[in-house]
Amino acid sequence: MSAPEGSLFGDQIAASRLAERFFALDAQKLLRLAIEDLFPGRIALVSSFGADSAVLLHMISEIDPATAVLFLDTLQLFPETLVYRDKLVEQLRLTNVVTLKPDARLLAAEDPDKFLWARDPDRCCEIRKVLPLAAALQPYDAWITGRKRFQAATRAALPLFEAEGARIKVNPLAAWTKADVDAYFEKHALPRHELVAMNYLSIGCVPCTSPIRPGEDARAGRWRGRGKTECGVHVATPDAGADI
Ligand code: SF4
Repeated sequence: MSAPEGSLFGDQIAASRLAERFFALDAQKLLRLAIEDLFPGRIALVSSFGADSAVLLHMISEIDPATAVLFLDTLQLFPETLVYRDKLVEQLRLTNVVTLKPDARLLAAEDPDKFLWARDPDRCCEIRKVLPLAAALQPYDAWITGRKRFQAATRAALPLFEAEGARIKVNPLAAWTKADVDAYFEKHALPRHELVAMNYLSIGCVPCTSPIRPGEDARAGRWRGRGKTECGVHVATPDAGADI
């Protein structure tokens, strides 16, 4: 399938056109289209290597294992996440996984005791996630996220394509349910993140992640009780993850 004529980037109209044109494609076909036809060599998957991440990583391994995968190591992650990253990279033979880290000088100046998450979580996320990702995305015209509508009320209207600054965000799993995710894991015998068995259904940094209780949505354990629902990577931050 060929790319549509005209600019693909830069505004919500372009994103809406893409969403309208390709709404009927299933996730695998949409992902292949984005990687091979719409943004060849100019698209990256931003992955947290969290609870559901193996789905998109597996799809990418079948399309092109050299697709760029950007992984934000905030230096506050669960050790199990780093183990899971290494396991999936090896099992899926991914060849272009880039681990991003926060600027050491900013951390030394603003978070020397590693408690900025308690004093000012928005600034903590900015230093540890938003800024490193914004820098790493510079060479790309588009990026892929693993966000899904079912995860939280704040994601209920998530489109397949979004404009963000000069880039397009592609959300191939937007319409997927938890049952779809579970079925994909089972069909492809994908390993689970160790913390999923302990009811961590959305996994971020240690200080800001807790297990969910029965009846809660998948992201209820993130920044619990603190009125914060996103890290800033996905909230109108120009040029700034996935299930981050
Ligand atoms: S999730 Fe918490 S620890 Fe991680 S970057 Fe954001 S505020 Fe900091």
